[in-house]
Amino acid sequence: EVVYDPGAVSGRMHNATYQLICNDPSTPTNEITFTGYTLPLSISNIQYSISGTSPFLNQEVTLIGICTYSDAPDSNDDEAGYAISEPEGGAWNGIYISDIFHRPDYGEEIQIKGTVKEFNGLTRLENITEYISLSKSNSVPAVIITAAELSTEPYESVLVCITNVTVSDENVGGNGYEWQITDSSGSCLVDDRVPYRYIWKLGNTLTEIRGIGFYSYSAFKLEPRFDDDFVGRDVFEYALKGMVMTPDGPQSNWYVHVWDDDIVEVTNIAPLGINIVDTEGIIFPGLIDAHNHPSWNSFPTLMFHKFPAGHRDEWAGWQEYSDWKKKRGDVRKYSSVDDSKKDTITKFGEVLELMAGCIIIQGQSNDNKEHAHPDVMLFNVEQYPSKVYANIFPWKMDSGERDELSKKLNGGAVNAVVIHLCEGPDATSHAQFTTWKSWGLLTKETAIIHGTSLTSNDFAEMAAVGAKLIWSPMTNIKLFDQTANAKLAAQIGVNVGISPDWTPSGCYNLLEELGYAWHLNQTQFGNYFTAKQMCDMVSLNNAISCGIDNRYGKIAVGYNAGLCVINGDPNDPYMSLINARPIDVKLTIVNGTPLYGDPNLVKAIGATGETVNVWGTTKMLNIAFDHPFLNYSQETFADIRSHLQTAHSTLNTTCTSGYLDSDELQFLDLDLLQKGPDNVPPFVGNADNPILSPANGAEFITGDPATMTFFTNGFWDNLSRSSDLIHKEIAIVPDSAPSTPQLVIATDLANTPANNTINFTPDFNGVDTNYIFRFITIDENANATTTLFTSTKFTVIPEPGLFLILNLGFLILYTTRRVPGVYPGQASK
Ligand SMILES: [Zn+2]
Repeated sequence: EVVYDPGAVSGRMHNATYQLICNDPSTPTNEITFTGYTLPLSISNIQYSISGTSPFLNQEVTLIGICTYSDAPDSNDDEAGYAISEPEGGAWNGIYISDIFHRPDYGEEIQIKGTVKEFNGLTRLENITEYISLSKSNSVPAVIITAAELSTEPYESVLVCITNVTVSDENVGGNGYEWQITDSSGSCLVDDRVPYRYIWKLGNTLTEIRGIGFYSYSAFKLEPRFDDDFVGRDVFEYALKGMVMTPDGPQSNWYVHVWDDDIVEVTNIAPLGINIVDTEGIIFPGLIDAHNHPSWNSFPTLMFHKFPAGHRDEWAGWQEYSDWKKKRGDVRKYSSVDDSKKDTITKFGEVLELMAGCIIIQGQSNDNKEHAHPDVMLFNVEQYPSKVYANIFPWKMDSGERDELSKKLNGGAVNAVVIHLCEGPDATSHAQFTTWKSWGLLTKETAIIHGTSLTSNDFAEMAAVGAKLIWSPMTNIKLFDQTANAKLAAQIGVNVGISPDWTPSGCYNLLEELGYAWHLNQTQFGNYFTAKQMCDMVSLNNAISCGIDNRYGKIAVGYNAGLCVINGDPNDPYMSLINARPIDVKLTIVNGTPLYGDPNLVKAIGATGETVNVWGTTKMLNIAFDHPFLNYSQETFADIRSHLQTAHSTLNTTCTSGYLDSDELQFLDLDLLQKGPDNVPPFVGNADNPILSPANGAEFITGDPATMTFFTNGFWDNLSRSSDLIHKEIAIVPDSAPSTPQLVIATDLANTPANNTINFTPDFNGVDTNYIFRFITIDENANATTTLFTSTKFTVIPEPGLFLILNLGFLILYTTRRVPGVYPGQASK
């Protein structure tokens, strides 16, 4: 026993060096244990052991170390942590900390107190009772070891580097968990606890691979931390030329120099020795969707007969929604879609956003790699390395959930709380804000989605703490006929972003939503927002709401190479973005890789893909790839769409209620996406027949007064409100000859609830003929659509005894009342 006595000098850090001399130092037979310490032990004190079990097992200890590794928490968050190291790194000098409440930065020096545990053979600290950040931006060298050495105890949780390795197994055991590398010493496993974009292939070589040594499932393995840990992989490097929208404003003929997923230079001088791609376009930061539900986004507009609702749970409780949801569930489960495994619908939703220059999406609630993997299309903002907490029903949180969230906010594991709150204009909606405040959770991290019912006082409280608003105008108008006062929020100083929510009630992509927000800016907010401010609302402001503005939302050195290049007027670049639609998007670049755009530009960067027809223009989608651990990554957009088409169209004929209608197939063909600011004619977006009466099979008697009632919210236009539509003509037509009106019952009728009942008198003879209603509807841009309501068929029978007279009269009426049904831009539904 060796006793160290600090004597009079206590309360300070002491270092004592003991040299152990024995016959064979590689296999010491006696461990040294320390007792009576009050100051931090070294990490190696905890880690070093002969048996493999820490000599401090189950003891509470205090350690100081520098963060070398950080986990990607799963959505359940039951297993997450980080590793710390002594500054010099090396054998025995690293340890894993199991802790879901804190997330130190790389290089952050921390002091923590916790209990030493062995977890399935991995020594780690648990139950962290003290956490103090001491300093930032420190570095720890990665110790160079061989592949064989990785599988030994000293390198557990230690930052290591293995040089000159070859991929010797892409998918060990075919399990999709680990791959294998080999160097001259042997082999070791590589894991993907933190996901990375690097795609390894059998035989690939790397000059270096780094990470921490780890032990799980009875095996040692390497855990890389990010893509820079794979040295010697292929990366894109190029410079895009065009009008660059820098934080200082537009710069003509500038260059954005991209290396891998980083912007490394923003300059007016052509970088030398690299591929220069002249986009002849306007280069914006990639757009950011701060709120969506992509797993619903193969479904177009859903509208309710009971419109408008007062708050979220009101419409969500309607039978119509249950029926709709059921049919959606059937599609989700349909064999070709198999959404729980393949994420087919989510991927379709991500394609819609990619086509709109969007690089990030919020709102996917699960961690399935098939969509959440960083190689799959958009960056899902709940995924590593962001620190987003999201909740659709935050007002239902119990105290346990609230405590956990508070601890994560205090500990830094969460830096953005993206929550649905105050959706709808009524008091029930508004009470959610009071509830959230009463829990002490209204903090700078809070980003409120919707906020329809928020008042100036509420916005002032939000501004005071730095809380944010995510404005979803289209869905608010469609469900509640009222939206958040985004102007007031901005005036009071709240950060306001714009996001679509989902395709069933919001816009089909972020550019359409931006266009709709601009429409409201003009019609409701007196042009309060400038075009530039509104463009920031789909990029930088959303980055701020999601806590990722240190890396996204700007074209600047050190920022992520996520870019949106559009075709537009250089004299008015911001309005060009507001007016841009998928056809105008020349490139969408995610993490430096072109995933959508003009084929010549995608190819000029060095990528390729499948072509897709967007309003008659050929675009390229580069979304399919081979990944050893992903089962469906090789599916193209054509595959995804065809799976959905099969599922949607089959259910169209087999569902008994809440059936799918033809809009849903048009949507999959991308025909409902806007070509320009508004070129899509009004449509009937509801699967149900908007004709409320007469009922199908009704009989009218010639000459008797009759009424027809229709559901005005069944008609929709994706630029304006349904009440802005005009029914140019509503006519009764034979089902067998719908272009031949028998009787026009209304003309130039505004589509408002007050107008939804029409009195008429059938004055023609309709023996043996089924009749239907035909609507010709126009929007404010004179886009017209003709809709035949074939699910309500009725007959017109003569008044008894008058058949012959009316039959003669009919011939005259027929010729005089006939109205040609052709208007500019008319499209048949
Ligand atoms: Zn939502």
